Amino acid sequence: MNIHEYQAKELLKQYGVAVLPGHVAWTPEEAVAAAQKLPGPVYVVKSQIHAGGRGAGRFADAPNGKGGVRIAKSVDEVRAAAEAMVGHTLVTKQTGPAGRRVNRVYVEAGCDIARELYLSLLIDRATSRVTIMASTEGGMEIEEVAERHPEKILRVAIDPAADIWPFHARKLAYALGLKGKQVAAFGKFVTAMYKAFLDLDCAIVEINPLVVTGAGDVVALDAKMSFDDSALYRHPEVEKLRDEAEEDPKELEAAKYSLNYVALDGSIGCMVNGAGLAMATMDIIKLYGGSPANFLDVGGGATKERVTAAFKIILSDPNVEGILVNIFGGIMRCDVIAEGVVAAAREVSLSVPLVVRLEGTNVELGKEIMAKSGLPIISADNLADAAEKVVKAVKEAA
Ligand code: ADP
Ligand code: MG
Repeated sequence: MNIHEYQAKELLKQYGVAVLPGHVAWTPEEAVAAAQKLPGPVYVVKSQIHAGGRGAGRFADAPNGKGGVRIAKSVDEVRAAAEAMVGHTLVTKQTGPAGRRVNRVYVEAGCDIARELYLSLLIDRATSRVTIMASTEGGMEIEEVAERHPEKILRVAIDPAADIWPFHARKLAYALGLKGKQVAAFGKFVTAMYKAFLDLDCAIVEINPLVVTGAGDVVALDAKMSFDDSALYRHPEVEKLRDEAEEDPKELEAAKYSLNYVALDGSIGCMVNGAGLAMATMDIIKLYGGSPANFLDVGGGATKERVTAAFKIILSDPNVEGILVNIFGGIMRCDVIAEGVVAAAREVSLSVPLVVRLEGTNVELGKEIMAKSGLPIISADNLADAAEKVVKAVKEAA
């Protein structure tokens, strides 16, 4: 789960991470009131969406469309900036061409920036450790730095049994070229950030840019936080920060039925039980020249209700031109699954080709139920056969 920049800053602040004062606003009037609570005379108005690249982004639908992050030199400029943002659609490198609607802005104190650095914490699967990444190339996307100047990224892995130590922080601080009191300030900053990362079960905390101010302070100018979904039950206060407007409605619906669903951009909807089988199904669709519209694991206990919900979610995607159901009846019996598929196909009045591959307990009975249903279900015998049939059916329908 992701949260907004201002929410991340509020959480991080509680751990002692240095941030600037600021307030969230839902309307231009609230933005003005927020600015009046800040020292001034320079403010920054920042669009709050779950995507980066806002500074260089554009509003496709506003007359003065340049910039999702704007400097304002008076309260009137704050109002104008907020008017240009709230209710408009911001397109950035990370949003894709459709962009995201901005519903709230963050009004923050302006900062006298001397240097922009990069700092993030993430879980490195290769070393199974929380790893600190730092770079002098702040403000740039780290993927770009990794590609062009990999030598400019420093990584420090933290041993979970030994914890973070001042020498870790010093090593990073010196590599970033920090001097004097900045070294101690950075040490406090990164240690607080690490504590927040562990406490809140984060997946990523990224500060880009981390800035050194003209006065030599070290502060987070941007903050991105992403949490491990499997650990959210431990953090109801974090779960409350979820912004459903930022999430795919299909994925939200799937979550209600405990379906593991991830929307993709292909045309073949997949309904599979088991994550491994779902991955294999997506691979084999690709192999036969098709492209999956989603990843969907209906889980071990695929009841009729869940199968119906899954069908509806798959069909609500306008890109879906065919469906492949690939279910192994191990815990579930194939006849029960077949009944679920038939009932669901009837209920949603299926309009695209449906290929079903069943295997496992009572498979013959399952196939018989589908054959006798009178529905145009294409039955398949194995994974390759199923993929080939669905790709072919989609081509023929088009
Ligand atoms: P994004 O990464 O989505 O573009 P950032 O929060 O990193 O958004 O802001 C983009 C740029 O705007 C920063 O690199 C920084 O130069 C500038 N900026 C952001 N916040 C402030 C601030 N409070 N004061 C001055 N400049 C800022
Ligand atoms: Mg940024």
